[in-house]
Amino acid sequence: PTSQPTTTDNSNKPIIAFIGAGNMAEAVIGGLYASGHPPSHLRFSEPFDERRRYMESKFSECMSGTDNNEIIKDADVIILAVKPQVIRDVVSALNCESNALIISIAAGIRTEDILRWLKTSQPLVRCMPNTPALIGEGAVGLYATESVSETQRDTTVGIMSAVAKEVMWVEKEPLIDTITGISGSGPAYYFLFMETMTQAGIDAGLPEEQSRALTIQTCLGAAKMAQSSEHDLSTLRKNVTSPNGTTEAAIKSMEADNIRQIIKDAVFSAERRGKEIA
Ligand code: NAD
Repeated sequence: PTSQPTTTDNSNKPIIAFIGAGNMAEAVIGGLYASGHPPSHLRFSEPFDERRRYMESKFSECMSGTDNNEIIKDADVIILAVKPQVIRDVVSALNCESNALIISIAAGIRTEDILRWLKTSQPLVRCMPNTPALIGEGAVGLYATESVSETQRDTTVGIMSAVAKEVMWVEKEPLIDTITGISGSGPAYYFLFMETMTQAGIDAGLPEEQSRALTIQTCLGAAKMAQSSEHDLSTLRKNVTSPNGTTEAAIKSMEADNIRQIIKDAVFSAERRGKEIA
């Protein structure tokens, strides 16, 4: 049988403009490209020539430039992907005339501040991604201001799903700081854990390569087990901890050193710092 050629209608896909074309923008644009978002509906502005040329060579079919107001013209979605230090100046200089949805991924910047700098009551989403988004394995927290429509919420989830496996809404903005303490800053906690575990193996005589590979696969294996299991995390732990066994010896040692409090303190420190920055 002969198959009919298929044509894709892209006219209903939103036009998405990125202000700032750094690492996060690159990841999201890359994810959208891979998911079939038409390149003609993606735009970015980037003031640094070298960076812009790199992005233009990677995403040659996208419109690009240095003028933020030129880039956001006709856009349905504007993604603020600049560093928190420059966001105030960037937002204050924007001329938003339409009802375009704004998504800010700047860590620690509150929606009320962005709206004040914008001087319009634009629909605004605050988004907390994390570094694994750079390889399509992100976890993302989202908070929407009142004027964001259901369709715009769906659009936001669609965009973030291009780089993340978990995308979720919170109904209170301070919970974005909590998410910062869990998934935003969390990759570094696991890196520290793996770094220390690898070093313990090396100290005990394992070659570095072996210790590193065993550590990483164990972390990944445990995460995948937890993800695919119906059991809660404490049951999973108990299931691999036989009385008087080796695992129990390790867990007892960690509990004696107050590991639970150490982890909670770390999460709450990140959360507090997030609130201070804002
Ligand atoms: P980045 O520095 O790689 O990208 C920011 C880009 O903005 C740079 O290329 C810079 O040249 C450009 N820029 C600077 N001034 C500009 C202006 N006036 N107009 C337009 N563009 C301008 O940073 P990133 O890692 O992509 O982070 C972007 C945002 O994402 C930050 O606010 C950060 O807090 C947030 N974030 C990043 C991560 C992460 O894992 N990288 C995680 C969570 C949140």
